[in-house]
Order: sequence, then C-alpha cells, then structure tokens
Amino acid sequence: MLEIDNNSIIICDKHSKLQLLKNIKKLVSVKIMSMSEFISSYYFDYDEKSIIYLINKYGIKYEVAKEYLANLIYIEDKTYNIEKLDFLVSIKRELIENNLLIFNSRFKNFIKGKNIIIYNYNLSKFEKHLLKDIDYKEIKPIQNNYTPVIYEFEDIEEEVEFIARSISKLINDKVDINKIKLTNVSDDYINIITKIFNFYNLKIDKFNNIPVMSNIIGTTFLNNLDLGIEKAIESISSYDRTDTYNTIINICNKYIWCDNEKDLKTLIEYDLKHTYIKNPKYTNMIEVVDYKSYSFTDEYVFMLGFNQGIIPKIYKDEDYISDNIKPSYMDSTIEKNTFEKISTISAIKNIKNLTITYKLKTPFSIFYPSNLIDDLTPPIKGKIDYSTSYSDIDDEITLANDLDELIKFGKTSDTLELLNSNYDIPYNTYSHRFTGLSIEKLRDCIKKQKSFNLSYTLMDNYNRCAFRFYIDKILCLSTLDDNFGITLGNLYHHTLEKLVKSDIDIESTVNDYIKDNDIVLTNSNRFFVNRAIDNLKYLKDILEKQNSFSKLKKCETEKFVKIPLKDNINFVGFIDKIVYDNIKDKTIAAIIDYKTYVKKPSLKYIDSGIGLQLPVYMYLSSYLYKNINFAGFYLQNITLDNKSDEEKEKSLKLIGYTNTDKEILENFDSNYMESSVIDGIKINKDGNFSSSSLKRMLSNDEIDGVIKTVREKIDETLDNVLDSKFDINPKIDKENIGCEFCKYRDLCFKKAYDFKSIKGNKRFDEDE
Ligand code: SF4
Repeated sequence: MLEIDNNSIIICDKHSKLQLLKNIKKLVSVKIMSMSEFISSYYFDYDEKSIIYLINKYGIKYEVAKEYLANLIYIEDKTYNIEKLDFLVSIKRELIENNLLIFNSRFKNFIKGKNIIIYNYNLSKFEKHLLKDIDYKEIKPIQNNYTPVIYEFEDIEEEVEFIARSISKLINDKVDINKIKLTNVSDDYINIITKIFNFYNLKIDKFNNIPVMSNIIGTTFLNNLDLGIEKAIESISSYDRTDTYNTIINICNKYIWCDNEKDLKTLIEYDLKHTYIKNPKYTNMIEVVDYKSYSFTDEYVFMLGFNQGIIPKIYKDEDYISDNIKPSYMDSTIEKNTFEKISTISAIKNIKNLTITYKLKTPFSIFYPSNLIDDLTPPIKGKIDYSTSYSDIDDEITLANDLDELIKFGKTSDTLELLNSNYDIPYNTYSHRFTGLSIEKLRDCIKKQKSFNLSYTLMDNYNRCAFRFYIDKILCLSTLDDNFGITLGNLYHHTLEKLVKSDIDIESTVNDYIKDNDIVLTNSNRFFVNRAIDNLKYLKDILEKQNSFSKLKKCETEKFVKIPLKDNINFVGFIDKIVYDNIKDKTIAAIIDYKTYVKKPSLKYIDSGIGLQLPVYMYLSSYLYKNINFAGFYLQNITLDNKSDEEKEKSLKLIGYTNTDKEILENFDSNYMESSVIDGIKINKDGNFSSSSLKRMLSNDEIDGVIKTVREKIDETLDNVLDSKFDINPKIDKENIGCEFCKYRDLCFKKAYDFKSIKGNKRFDEDE
C-alpha cells in the first residue's frame, strides 16, 4: 500500500481512495482527488446554469447541451477550420464571456510544490496531454499474473444458477460472505440474478439503490410538475417522512437560484430521472465491485457476462468529435480500444481467486465469448452438479424444465432421474384462467384510481376481451407508447383543429407546436414534418372546397363530453370534429374523425359493442345538443403521402354512414349526388340511392337505434365491469377480432377454448 507523505496530492479513483483512507495511520496533510476533479479544478468546470444557457440559446435538449459541455475540454482557443470544432470554440468563448464556465483561480497556486501522485490509475493519451505541464509521479501496486478459471454456459439462467450454487458452496465451506464479490454485472443480469439468488437466499448489495422515478412518489411529483413546484410538492406531502420525498425536496432546493418556471422544470425533470435513493450499505451481503478499481487481496470473485461486446468495452467512432476530425492529442477509437484491452487483461490477471463465466444465449440474443480468452486460458464447459442441493425451489424448477423436455421433445436430461426421485412437484397443473376478483377488492381498486371513468376505447377493449380491459384498467399495466408516429399524429390533429377555427399559416402553426412541446427533431423526423406541412397545406384547400358544399357553418373540435353513469363513474370522450348548425327548429350535424390510417368504419359488430367510435361520438353529441339529426358520421383519412393530386382528393372523401333523408343530407353536402365529398354515394336514374350506396346509409330511425344501442352497450359494459367479470374471452368471427392490436399476448396464455364466437349484424355486414 502507498506510503502517504505530507504535502501530497493523490489522484486516484473512488475505491483506491477508500483503501488509502483506511490505511492512513498518522496525521498527514494530503488531498485525495479523482482525475476528473483534478482536471476540472486545473482547467475549468461547468454547472446547470451553463446547461440551461445552451438549452435556451440553441433550442437543444438537456443531454445535447451536456455533450457539448463535456467536449469543451478537448478544445483549444484557436480556429480549426472544421465546422464542429469551431462551433465548440465559439460556444466555449460565449460561455466564458457570460461567466458560465467556472475557473478555480487558486488551484494552480495550491498545487505548486506539492507531491502529485497518480495512484493505481491508467492515464489515457489525452489525460497525459492535459497533465503535460505538471510534475507528477505514477505509482501502481504490484502487478500479479494469476490465471482465472473460465466456464462456458449454454444460457444466462444456467450461468447465474452456477454462480449462485458456487457461492452457496463457499458459504457452506465457511467462507465469509463479505469476501465474496461479483463483478462485470451488466443491466441484463439484474432481474435474473435477483430471481435466482432469491431462491438461494443470497442478497446482493448493488441492487439496493432505487431510482426516484420507480415509485409512486416520484411519478406523482413529475406528473404534477406542470402545475408548478409548490403544487407538485403538495401532491406528495402525505409521503413527507420518506427518503424519496426528502430526495425530491433536496433536488428542488438545489435550484433555488432558478426563477424561470420552464428552466426549473427542465432541471428538476432531468434530476428526477437520474437520481437514485441510496439505501444504507449493509454488511453480510454480496457486494458488486468494479474489477478495474477494487484492490483485491484474497476475495472470491465471480466475473459474469464474459462476452464479446461486453468485456472489454468496445468503443465505436461515434463520439461528437469523430476520428476524422480529432486533434492529434486526443485518443482515436483504435487507441481507446487498445488501451481498454490492455487495462482489462492486467486487471483480470491481478485477481487471485477469480471465476469467469459467460453465456452463449439469452431469450433474446445469441452471444459469443470475449476475444480476451485468447490472452487468458481456454474455457471449460460449465456443468451444474445437482448431487448437493442448495435450493429446493431451484431444483424443482429444473425438474419441471426437464419434464417439459421429456414430454415435448422426448429428451431425457442427466438430472431428471436424480431430481424426480427427490421431489414431488405439481407438474402441469397450472391454469391460465382468470380466477376472479372479489367485488370488494374491485371497488377498492376503483376508489384508488381517483377518476375511474369509462371511454370508447375502454368499452371497445372490454368487449373485444374482458381480460384485456382488466390488465389495462384494473391492474393498470399499460405502458405509454411514445414514438414519433404519435407525435406526428398529434401535430396533424393540433393543426387541423386550428385550421377549422380560423385562417392560419400552416408552417408557423406546425413550427410553434414543435417549439411549445419541446420536440427535438432528428434529420429524418424533420423530413416527415416537412412532408406533413405540404400535406396540411393541400388538406387546407380541399377542406375549404368540401366546406363550400355545406350549410353547417358551426364547428367544434376535440370537444370534451362527460356523461354521468352510476356509482360516480362517468362516460367520457373527446369528439374529434362536429360540424353543425341550427336549421329550422333542429340541430343538423355531421361527425368527422381524422385518421392517419385507412380503415373503413363498420357497424358490423355493434351488437357486441365493438368498433363503435363514431356512434359513441353521436351519443356524446346528442347529450350536448337537443333535438339533433345527423347527416352522417365519417372517418377522413388524412395521409396523403406518395399520392398523385387526383388520388389525394379522392382519398380525402369522407368514409362512413350517411342519412337517407335527402333534406337533412343536403344541408351537409349539397353536391351529394356527385359524391364529391362523401365517398360511395350513387344515384339511380330514377333519382333513388343505388342498392350499393344503401348498404352505407341509415334512416333517421336507424340512426336513433344506433345511438340507443350505444347507451345500452355502455350500461352493459359497466355492469359487467362492476360485477368483476374479467374472463379471457377474445371475440372471434371469421377473424380474431378480440386480440387485434392487443399488447398483452405475452401474458394471457390464451387457449383455443377461450375464444368466444360472435356474428356480425347482417344489416351492416357488407360481405353478406
Ligand atoms: S391477446 Fe387476446 S386473449 Fe390475450 S389479453 Fe389480449 S385480447 Fe385477451
């Protein structure tokens, strides 16, 4: 161990620092720093004020601003004649001018005359360049040359099970658990280690830190942040004695200097997503350590995941400053990889009792052994010895797997006989069926969801498959889909909503939407946005043309309607677009829903409560406007990509159901005989609608009947929900209607006998 003299500065990593502090036996004047602390003190540092400045100045995301700042250390104050580097130079100058880089003016004086020691640390080429004017000494502990044992396993479960058994054996042999370490534990091992180690009653230290956002306190706070900090804090005040609450308050206090609500939200949001609640460090647990910085002596170390791509870490030429523009003092990708390989091998050879393992596959990917094996020792095929049992439950699971192999594929494993003669397991007795939920528990669950309402989507889900609804709304397991397709759809809806209300400039409306919603566009996203702008400009002209045939001059878009049902439960929905007017003593209206995909609306499954989006909008509208008559209800496909102008105009025709009452229809489309607005209306020579048109037309009585059925289906669905009826019952006709777009295929284990046959209503079945 390093002898520490007075008047020293020691640069080392966190673990070496702890080891050094433990071994200091006398009072000495010494400062121990990490390499990054030393460099930022010697050169410059930045903080959240610098980040916020860049976000606001350049309209970039938090992460991008951080990346620019992290790259400033590579930049000298000169012209490189390379766009990216000169951009960084200009940012650096700008930050300095605005006092947004932090310079420690006393540090250079402070280190004068000190013994600067770089301890147990491998300097990169760039770090050597940064330290070129400093007089320092490098000291490394003695390098050993131990040979590890390497085991190969077929899959990740077998690999982790082997380690759990090896650790159990060590503990059985009276090895102190504090002497057992895991290393190289990547994220894909966490769940599997947690599961298998639990079977062996082994507890791991590393997995105790919990992300702030992983519990209800963090998510509630974040969800309320838009209302302001005070309101967000108030929303979690009932948790005020918890660690999460205190961590959140500490984050808020950190930004007391920030008086801009939007900036404050950006800073707090980032911290919330990157902060962990540190649980106390316990002894008698298996510790996960970093093999490169931990000073091993006689510990038993298990290095997992010795696979190519994981160890050694492989750098790719994808840094902001790429190889082709890197100044010569920076490490190229090849140099970084060579450095990584050498330092990894020397760290491995320094560990006395090291067992290395790797897998050839996980349920999701195929893996290859690390190429470092060539520099170490040939691997041994790993085999688990079941003759000694360390976990009954794990042995029983292995037996169940063996029985699966035997019954499904006729294969007998080496362990089957041994395990089968020792365990009696309830093999193949599992039932996937919904076993029921008591009405009290259901009510309790409804009460906990402050606003438990029914909507078109939920009703549709329930009627397609009750279990689908149960997972979504009662267990609340649905995840929020967040992709650019959804953003683009929202952008279309927002612009169209503005468009029908006033004459707007499409381009600036779209750009304002992107700015107001902090949407960061990649180059390919920008392409789609530009295409959307062109489409929306075209749409504007066509919508104006279509409107010219209509006498219905009033319009509501995204209209929210809430209808009380029972037990404080409401039916809620947003009507996409309703055009209407008061004509004589009636309200004449038409419903239009914009879609970014083509699907003909159909009332075929009305009796089963499926596919009723447009009828639901009529039901909601009839609650809003008294004495209402509908001219029709339609979808309008607003995707115009890759179409000629003629095809575009045709595809923008309204697709849906139309009222046969010509007097009502004329108010909405005075040109209906030409079918220029509504798709598929044909008139016979005798002036009547053709029989093919009539398949998609309804009388006033039939429309009333549709609305009445909607109400009946809503009541029926709610009664079934409140009676806790959540069987797996996907509906099937000629096709599987129930499971269409269902996200829960992996967890319901449906069988053929679960399907429930339904028949389409003949009146609306266009195939009949
Ligand atoms: S996949 Fe089908 S059966 Fe399974 S939950 Fe979804 S709808 Fe129901």
